[in-house]
Amino acid sequence: EARFNIPHITDVFPDAVEYPSTFCLKMRTPVSEEFAEGYPSDEKWHGYINNNDRVLLKVINYSSPTSAGAECIDPNCSWVEQWVHRAGPREKIYFKPEEVKAAIVTCGGLCPGLNDVIRHIVITLEIYGVKKIVGIPFGYRGFSEKDLAEMPLSRKVVQNIHLSGGSLLGVSRGGPKVSDIVDSIQERGINMLFVLGGNGTHAGANAIHDECRKRRMKVAVVGVPKTIDNDIMLMDKTFGFDTAVEEAQRAINSAYIEAHSAYHGIGIVKLMGRSSGFIAMQASLASGQIDICLIPEVPFNLHGPHRVLRHLKYLLETKGSAVVCAAEGAGQDFLEKTNAKDASGNAVLGDIGVYLQQEIKKYFKEMGETSDVKYIDPTYMIRACRANASDGILCTVLGQNAVHGAFAGYSGITVGICNTHYVYFPIPEVISKPRVVDPNSRMWHRCLTSTGQPDFL
Ligand code: ATP
Ligand code: MG
Repeated sequence: EARFNIPHITDVFPDAVEYPSTFCLKMRTPVSEEFAEGYPSDEKWHGYINNNDRVLLKVINYSSPTSAGAECIDPNCSWVEQWVHRAGPREKIYFKPEEVKAAIVTCGGLCPGLNDVIRHIVITLEIYGVKKIVGIPFGYRGFSEKDLAEMPLSRKVVQNIHLSGGSLLGVSRGGPKVSDIVDSIQERGINMLFVLGGNGTHAGANAIHDECRKRRMKVAVVGVPKTIDNDIMLMDKTFGFDTAVEEAQRAINSAYIEAHSAYHGIGIVKLMGRSSGFIAMQASLASGQIDICLIPEVPFNLHGPHRVLRHLKYLLETKGSAVVCAAEGAGQDFLEKTNAKDASGNAVLGDIGVYLQQEIKKYFKEMGETSDVKYIDPTYMIRACRANASDGILCTVLGQNAVHGAFAGYSGITVGICNTHYVYFPIPEVISKPRVVDPNSRMWHRCLTSTGQPDFL
């Protein structure tokens, strides 16, 4: 049995003071108060999560210990089990609410649900009794740029922010060095930091956590994974993904209508997914209008028999039109490498949609046939949407659990959903590599069955 250990305040401060949590009791309205003759109230009505509660991350029965490789800790056993900490309110907390100054920061790109998470972090902090809550504007940059003032946050400020997309606090890429961020945290007297962002942001959050430990600062750093691409390891899904898939279908449907209404019409829709094709795969599965789905994990060729262009020709001959869905990271080998990097150091990708459009037009023109190719890139329209109902619920629980985790004394952790249970992960485990679509998985095969596309290699 393997267990993830998550960093706790007592690792640095063995004598850290424990306070009783009033969180659940405050939430509880004893039945007897409302109905004089009511049932006796149950002290544990809302209940606390025990620090030793674990959620089963996975169980694999390998055919032999050797096929389990490094994952198998016991050489005589081919079973691997992994357990993670269950998230939620604890009976004992490690911060006195009146001594807490909490800060929230959102980094990277936009994602539906950011405001929902901010809102629930603020609301839950207030329920604990925290008075000092601030937002750091425009990502990590807000820690260093002098003209960017902290934004005071309260239930009143955040009450309706989930009704629109984007981030109340603003986002950015790049920014100050980790040591400068920690200097700023120290100066401002922040002792709880909630960081909403993707892989890059979490690498930053973990470095901030390490630096705080090095300086023996009693600070809890808790992440909430924000990745519309759903490319974070170990989690069932991340917030914003569901909304993205739903919105992507509008673009796909428009592309379908355009293609269907034109003579030899071909629609191309580019969806998010730099290294992982989850949005493209799920949107293709959901819409039922995609004939070709291209993702970064599965290489393809354009030219040759049974390749993409020949298949498009076949589709025009048999169906009259076709729709292609490509993840932004698909087919990057065909595009010129620029070595350009964004402010956070991520490689700037070439536009696969433009390339496909040009190549398809050229192919049909060279054969003396007509084609009407339309390209839709709905990226910024999708990212700016407000969260749908299922993401709204996910954001609510993640926001609440981030606050419970910080009060419980955990730091360098991130919240997530795992096998339908809410859990805390150590940050390094979830950012060790991006989660990708397994080309041998049943889900990808189901996608291929639904599009009817052949193997393009
Ligand atoms: P998205 O999914 O939108 O790309 P992201 O969190 O990966 O989100 P990035 O722009 O890569 O977005 O990074 C966000 C912030 O994290 C930036 O301010 C960047 O400077 C910082 N950051 C990225 N990588 C690291 C790292 N390895 N160490 C410290 N900070 C980092
Ligand atoms: Mg990133």
